[in-house]
Amino acid sequence: QRKKFMEHSADYLVLKGISKSFGHFNALNDINLHIAEGEFVCFLGPSGCGKTTLLRIIAGLETQNQGQIIQKGKDISFVKPVKRDYGIVFQSYALFPNLSIAENIAYGLVNRRQSSSVIKARVTELLQLAGLPDSGDKYPGQLSGGQQQRIALARALAMSPGLLLLDEPLSALDALERVRLRTEIRQLQQRLGVTTIMVTHDQEEALTMADRIVVMNHGVIEQIGTPEQIYLQPRTQFVASFVGKVNVLRATALGAGRFRIGILEFDCPVWGDKFVAGQAVKVYLRPEDIVVHRDQPSQPSSAERPRGTITKMEFLGAYCHACIEVEGLDKQSVTAAIPLSEVHQNDLKAGTKIFLELVPAKARIFPVTKE
Ligand code: ATP
Repeated sequence: QRKKFMEHSADYLVLKGISKSFGHFNALNDINLHIAEGEFVCFLGPSGCGKTTLLRIIAGLETQNQGQIIQKGKDISFVKPVKRDYGIVFQSYALFPNLSIAENIAYGLVNRRQSSSVIKARVTELLQLAGLPDSGDKYPGQLSGGQQQRIALARALAMSPGLLLLDEPLSALDALERVRLRTEIRQLQQRLGVTTIMVTHDQEEALTMADRIVVMNHGVIEQIGTPEQIYLQPRTQFVASFVGKVNVLRATALGAGRFRIGILEFDCPVWGDKFVAGQAVKVYLRPEDIVVHRDQPSQPSSAERPRGTITKMEFLGAYCHACIEVEGLDKQSVTAAIPLSEVHQNDLKAGTKIFLELVPAKARIFPVTKE
């Protein structure tokens, strides 16, 4: 019995077989997930994939048709929202406009009938935490979007909840504020050690903030993993294309780990036993796994590099994305990520003729399926 407890003691929240339908529409289908205490988990997926519905079910704002929610070993599947131990922040700041910032933060504490000196001390502490120690007497309308969201976060943390739920908290903010708040929220979460679930459709947000990402599509979980696992080892074609930029190339398996794209043959032993000779496949390769050269390799023993012409350069700061039309890859074009220093050194621009090297060890290969 004790061993069993030890094995599961690290799970703060467990979702078991959660399903939800609206009329005939299945919004969620058999969702199973274990979240450890102190973990920051992102639900990531396109619009309509069910991520908000799942968060609302955890909050008790929506009721599942099937399945269980276990929080700290306790079944809370049908516990009322107010009796669940969480704080929540929504996309729209949702502060009470007619209450001061201090009153907004104190709202839940007042409802819990705490003494006024305790409330005052806690509000001061939370204003500090939000990085806005002097704004207690202001009103929401006097604060910027980012500041309002910091206050919404402080309000959600006022009761020291065990679980923090964030529903697209950054999507209404401008780009600079969004990036700044990403770091602030993550640092605060780590400092407090509060288990956190954030819903987002922004892959960069999920990759930079989460301990683990739950990628969702059409009401099911496609993959659960660390940002590195999701980016480097996507398990499905959906995950590979939804997270990060990727080249998808039509290819043919030749058997025994060898593949061909147009005239280019390459070995990819890890995928060797997955495909039979002659099978049509898709090769997924990140732009950073395509290397651009001005020349053929100097050693004649090396495989010949396919030729290409740069059709467009996209400046992205520290590196560029070069769109390349490749001869011999069955007229497929690719995008390569090239560090800016190399772009300058090799004088790469639209019209430049280049030679390509693919890094097949990084490729993910999937069977061609009917859409
Ligand atoms: P978004 O980022 O657009 O909010 P999402 O992944 O969070 O997308 P949900 O809001 O969870 O998606 O919605 C999932 C699906 O369920 C959508 O197709 C939506 O139209 C549907 N849905 C959500 N709530 C309801 C409801 N109350 N009644 C009917 N359908 C709903």
